[in-house]
Amino acid sequence: MYKSIIIGTGPAGLTAAIYLARANMNPLVIEGPQPGGQLTTTTEVENFPGFPDGIMGPELMDNMRKQAERFGAEFRTGWVNQVDLSRRPFKLQVEGIGELLAESLVLSTGATAKYLGIPGEQENVGRGVSTCATCDGFFFRNKEIIVVGGGDSALEEAGFLTRFASKVTLVHRRDELRGSKIMQDRVRRNEKVEWALNRTPLEVVVNENGVVTGLKVRNNATDEEEFISASGVFVAIGHHPNTAFLEGQIETDENGYILVTPGTSQTNIPGVFACGDVQDTRYKQAITAAGSGCMAALDCEKFLESQEHQAVAQNSMMG
Ligand code: NAP
Repeated sequence: MYKSIIIGTGPAGLTAAIYLARANMNPLVIEGPQPGGQLTTTTEVENFPGFPDGIMGPELMDNMRKQAERFGAEFRTGWVNQVDLSRRPFKLQVEGIGELLAESLVLSTGATAKYLGIPGEQENVGRGVSTCATCDGFFFRNKEIIVVGGGDSALEEAGFLTRFASKVTLVHRRDELRGSKIMQDRVRRNEKVEWALNRTPLEVVVNENGVVTGLKVRNNATDEEEFISASGVFVAIGHHPNTAFLEGQIETDENGYILVTPGTSQTNIPGVFACGDVQDTRYKQAITAAGSGCMAALDCEKFLESQEHQAVAQNSMMG
């Protein structure tokens, strides 16, 4: 029986682990198949405060893990298949570990960026293909960039990337954008943005040196293939939160993001806390994830203390 189990080891989970370990709560941290989370797929992180020269994503995550271990957090690798949140202690079925019991849970399983699934895409992630304009836009100063998608994310990223790029081409598979009118109007007024609507992405094209040179698309009106040149292809077609294992046992929004009481990490189940991208549809930054991980640990600590007080009060009444 663990006082606290943290599921997920991105900046949110690891920050929660540092705080809970320092509070002597001996947390168990369950690492999934991508230890360190999304930051391990990026190269240099330049916007995490405290690193004036930047730091490589994997190194940053490795440092956070070491910091949590230093204070006694225990790490185990496994895949959480199932949870029972209907009563405490909460029960977890973990592939590779077995059944675990916990008095409290911190959910920090993150979200996964959706990809197009076209040739040339996966092999160039971090080398011309990105799913995060805030993280990687800076590397494309005065270069041509493509943003794929027609929702608010794509519109926001297209606008943001014009700060760096000489030109941003927004590629969307339909004639009509899904994003909000206000965001559409803003981007339409931006002279650096070109539109390639009604184009389905077919392939990220690289030259003989393996450098991304653009995107092959199908023009859905003419059914012809076209080539749009760019040094960077930003895929902004949404994320999906990693909440399938919760099987509807916790309140989420219609897209599966865990709902928390605003300003806290409290879910609708007492003793279950959520932090990081699994509950964040808005900011999705390493630093905001880390901040929310700290909130989850403090909320969790308070919850465990109140449980102890209750137990002491009950015992003294019985005594
Ligand atoms: P989204 O609204 O689901 O839009 C995803 C876009 O990607 C759609 O235009 C979709 O095309 C396209 N797409 C999906 N799969 C594709 C594929 N395989 N190939 C090509 N295109 C594909 O996702 P989002 O833009 O990330 O937004 C998610 C939520 O966050 C929304 O509620 C949004 O309003 C909100 N958000 C708000 C802000 C803001 O207010 N500042 C910023 C970002 C996000 P179709 O249109 O053809 O389906």
